[in-house]
Amino acid sequence: MSLSILAAEALSGARPAVYWTDSPDAPRPAPSLHGSSRADLVIIGGGFSGLWASILAAERDPNRSVVLLEAEETGFGASSRNGGFVEASLTHGVANGLRHWPDEMRELLRLGDQNYDDLLAFVASNEIDARVEETGVLHVATEPWQIDELAEYHEILDRFGIPSEMLSADQVRAEVQSSTYVGGLRDPQGMAIVDPARLVWGLRQVAEARGVAVHDHSAVVGFERHRTDIGVHTAEGSVTARKVVVATNAYANPVKAMRRYIVPVYDYVLMTEPLSADQLLSIGWEGRQGLSDVTNQFHYYRLTHDNRILWGGYDAIYRYRSAIGPEYDQAGDTHHKLAEHFFTTFPQLEGLRFSHRWAGPIGTTTRFTATWGTSFDGNLAWVGGYTGLGVCASRFGAAVALDLVDGRDTELTNLSMVRKKPMPFPPEPFRYAGIQLTRRALAKADTKQGHRGPWLKLLDKFGVGFDS
Ligand SMILES: Cc1cc2nc3c(=O)[nH]c(=O)nc-3n(C[C@H](O)[C@H](O)[C@H](O)COP(=O)(O)OP(=O)(O)OC[C@H]3O[C@@H](n4cnc5c(N)ncnc54)[C@H](O)[C@@H]3O)c2cc1C
Repeated sequence: MSLSILAAEALSGARPAVYWTDSPDAPRPAPSLHGSSRADLVIIGGGFSGLWASILAAERDPNRSVVLLEAEETGFGASSRNGGFVEASLTHGVANGLRHWPDEMRELLRLGDQNYDDLLAFVASNEIDARVEETGVLHVATEPWQIDELAEYHEILDRFGIPSEMLSADQVRAEVQSSTYVGGLRDPQGMAIVDPARLVWGLRQVAEARGVAVHDHSAVVGFERHRTDIGVHTAEGSVTARKVVVATNAYANPVKAMRRYIVPVYDYVLMTEPLSADQLLSIGWEGRQGLSDVTNQFHYYRLTHDNRILWGGYDAIYRYRSAIGPEYDQAGDTHHKLAEHFFTTFPQLEGLRFSHRWAGPIGTTTRFTATWGTSFDGNLAWVGGYTGLGVCASRFGAAVALDLVDGRDTELTNLSMVRKKPMPFPPEPFRYAGIQLTRRALAKADTKQGHRGPWLKLLDKFGVGFDS
């Protein structure tokens, strides 16, 4: 059977829905905001950043009244659509961090490890059933030139005392059976896999238990400056508060300044049915590691608690004028391409079907890491732009945003990563044209043994880029 027919058949029954939230365990939405009220702190956006900001705020000052406003349902955005890789890195990988903040790298690694440990300890102590498995990552090379890239990465990790191990083709195939693998790198620490929706639900529960008033279906449509306060308006209500944290990430609304620095990039995902015992045996994967390949257009994949395979990545699609909407959650071509790649990697799973297909907007910056800003004389702080590594980093992002809005001078607020913003994206139509040009150049580099052409070299010179 041709690969294309195999992919089409496997996709034919897939529900156009997010697997993680397509569950009878999903909680009821929180009541929406009606009427006018007052609070000490309003948080806008109910993803990981907003939830952590609300929990940390209540932890720092239990007497502070906190209101969290979410446009749809808590976790509606990237937070419950992602791959569930919880990685300690705050900098979208050590190599990217070194490129931007060589002098701060050790501090950023330490803070990242601390944030990761604190996150996992919090999940455990609050008995959040997020199906955490500390598996580590396996980076796999599918072309010989990628082995050099892995070796370079191995050296960088070594320099910072982070354990990792180069694997030969035989060794990596002994971990996970795919004839496409020609080598790999085992990166065993600082990485867990979780069920992201269950993490969202658990965080919401803890936040509510600590007195945070969560309101779903309460999109913020605007602000109003009062003398010392900020009026935050939704369609049916308003909250007046001294302080506001905006955690809308890729949605980059309602703060205009965010839109210059953070753009939405759609990332696509497939979920298979559970594998049978024989199918599982045919691929091995006893270590259950999170996997990713090393091309610019990379795939990431992992097992779930019931032995499905989540398979995502490759295309990262930016739409003109930073458009976001449910109409982009399905993309026939991209999902089909992903399904073909799946069966190229695991031909022994022919006959396995996909149960779900979806997408979500990743908020990215030109340096692939979070960025922060303030307005209303420092009484409003915003955060976002973690690119594809925000499940863990969003907790750190929220802590920094709280420090900023509380006017605290801390180790976090003194980091260059926090003080300096990335280069902004240009306005349209240059933004769209530039991103398309970069995507094409990245795809070309993947077919030319990683060789970066003149456009990518120019971007490298300015320390900017495009990633998912
Ligand atoms: C397909 C996909 C796979 C990914 N895989 C991984 C991964 O495996 N590991 C990893 O670390 N990261 C991954 N990421 C990235 C990660 O999910 C995000 O970085 C992280 O969830 C960001 O959380 P957030 O709270 O900042 O943003 P979001 O989760 O996007 O939350 C923003 C919220 O704000 C709400 N909102 C927007 N506008 C308004 C408004 N006006 N008023 C009120 N609310 C508003 C939205 O509805 C949304 O719920 C992935 C992302 C995607 C899309």
